[in-house]
Amino acid sequence: VFDVLVVGGGPAGAAAAIYAARKGLNTGVVAERFGGQVADTMSIENFISVSATQGPKLVAQLEEHVNDYQVDVMKNQRASGLSVGNNLELALENGATLKAKSLVIATGARWRTMNVPGEQEYKGRGVAYCPHCDGPLFKGKSVAVIGGGNSGIEAAIDLANLVEHVTVLEFADSLKADEVLIKKVHSLSNVTIITNAQTTEVLGDGQKVTGLTYMDRQSNQQHQLELAGIFVQIGLIPNTEWLEGSGMALTPFGEIAIDAKGATSISGVFAAGDVTTEPYKQIIIAMGGGATASLSAFDYLIRHQSD
Ligand code: FAD
Repeated sequence: VFDVLVVGGGPAGAAAAIYAARKGLNTGVVAERFGGQVADTMSIENFISVSATQGPKLVAQLEEHVNDYQVDVMKNQRASGLSVGNNLELALENGATLKAKSLVIATGARWRTMNVPGEQEYKGRGVAYCPHCDGPLFKGKSVAVIGGGNSGIEAAIDLANLVEHVTVLEFADSLKADEVLIKKVHSLSNVTIITNAQTTEVLGDGQKVTGLTYMDRQSNQQHQLELAGIFVQIGLIPNTEWLEGSGMALTPFGEIAIDAKGATSISGVFAAGDVTTEPYKQIIIAMGGGATASLSAFDYLIRHQSD
């Protein structure tokens, strides 16, 4: 029986594992892919105290740091269910069940993709999902933002400060963002908004993005835009499908609701990072969340020692 079982091996899970192990707790990590989204990131320039690094390099350092401690890391394992009995029981897709006194869930999230030709090929080479992360890489260039909801319009306002020109492409006939954001974006001289626009292809030169094509849904005509970058802002999906039926309280978006201590609706189960209601999805924030969750798990365990 683990004292703390961490589900997920991204920055939140790695931080949780280190904090738990440093409390002398019997700690395990179950991760489908160690490193999580960081493994897909080219350049990271906002991990404070490290001016610039690359995702795979940071992942290797995370793994090395976790391995400094006695942590049972189970890689390439996918959690498929959680049940609450005498202990917490984590079911794995391979049929095994792991028992734990407390759990830290850090299964992260994934960006909703456009699913058009070229998107996968140019991911990290012009196709981006995080304006906080990649915006400054497009200084002086033209970019598009796909999606006219709150995150798309926030991204457009943010990017307008950094890049030469922003084109927002919204699928519906009007923007879906809050009125105050719509007003703000309309006031910016270097932002163009196109509604009824369905992106059909990401164009590139083999190395990087050069533009995109979209269909005007009213006229059915195809148009082409020349661009250096495409920010896809059509939703972030938390990896919580596996918690269905567990009784875990999720928001309508599927995020795990946590309090300031990382506690969830299930006693002894804590959560951290992009899978939670934490409003800002960033590496440094996920790490802080992982630390909080494990310190809370420790607090919980010392109060339930007779169990
Ligand atoms: P994740 O990194 O998503 O990790 C989730 C972990 O859970 C993974 O190990 C995954 O395999 C595992 N998992 C999921 N489901 C299961 C399951 N059922 N069973 C077992 N394991 C499971 N942030 C920055 O701060 N700076 C940047 O420059 C930056 N650039 C980014 C660029 C890209 C392309 C992307 C996609 C994101 C970027 N981010 C950046 C955001 C940052 O990567 C995330 O905020 C951060 O990784 C979240 O960490 P996490 O540990 O919560 O989740």
